[in-house]
Amino acid sequence: MLRDIFYRLKPLIPRSVQIGIRRQLIEWQRRQVADIWPIDPNPATPPEGWTGWPDGADFALILTHDVEKPIGQSRCLALAELERERGFRSSFNFVPERYTDNPDLRRRLDAMGFEVGVHGLNHDGKLYSSREEFMRRAVRINQYIADWGARGFRSPAMHHNLEWLGSLDCDYDASTFDTDPFEPQPDGMGTIFPFLVPRADGRAPYIELPYTLPQDFTLFVLMGEPTPATWKSKLDWLAARGGMVLLNVHPDYMHFGDGRPGIEEYSASIYAELLDYVVTAYSGRYWHALPRDLATFWRAEFAVQTTGGLARRGCVTPWASLW
Ligand SMILES: [Zn+2]
Repeated sequence: MLRDIFYRLKPLIPRSVQIGIRRQLIEWQRRQVADIWPIDPNPATPPEGWTGWPDGADFALILTHDVEKPIGQSRCLALAELERERGFRSSFNFVPERYTDNPDLRRRLDAMGFEVGVHGLNHDGKLYSSREEFMRRAVRINQYIADWGARGFRSPAMHHNLEWLGSLDCDYDASTFDTDPFEPQPDGMGTIFPFLVPRADGRAPYIELPYTLPQDFTLFVLMGEPTPATWKSKLDWLAARGGMVLLNVHPDYMHFGDGRPGIEEYSASIYAELLDYVVTAYSGRYWHALPRDLATFWRAEFAVQTTGGLARRGCVTPWASLW
């Protein structure tokens, strides 16, 4: 109830006060959900018929970024370089109509081996206000997916309706999570693996990629954690269960260089420390892929089963019975 009141009053409150209130709230919330966050012990079962990750890897590692505003855009190359130095590649999801599109930046990321995806349309909180509104915006989103050569989509604020999302022309969606009770639409997907989602219009299913490490904003801005300890322990847990480590970090909140991070920022060195940890602790034991390559792999792995009956391998969800 406290949270409802907060979200109703939110537009009237200065940003710094909002952050202060959310910090207080989240301390209280965190104690309430300790049994399901950051680890929900239930969704560790692999899908039926699972034969394992490519190259015999123990687990998969996928890095993604949502670029919220121009400040985030200006930090994309620094973030890409931080990853490339350590042998990693990632996807950057841009909002088509919130800030000025930068085709040159998209081309540079592509040339460096990174992926570009679409993050909502305007990021105004209204994409899911009604089915009609979603479908109206889906036409424009599909145009950006085609123009940018994108293969993936993620909704702002992790809003999701898996049936509606099926009308987008993408191979995968990444608007969900295994467990994250701090999101406005807090229903976890109950799995640490990708899954196929059938489309109402009969086209081939798309792949849903839930994130499995907590969001940076939650851990470092709201909870004020000074190290990547929570990320590391969840990663260890996912690795031991052979799952998918999928992370979403935002260049907007990352502070590069000297000086103190701002009120909505954390030091990029925390993220670098996580990547260094993976490289040293799990050398040769993970399959690192772009989300589009994971989607391709998953489709090939489970395609044979989707013709005979969607509820079989790879469809680990109850969604298939919804429409
Ligand atoms: Zn966003």
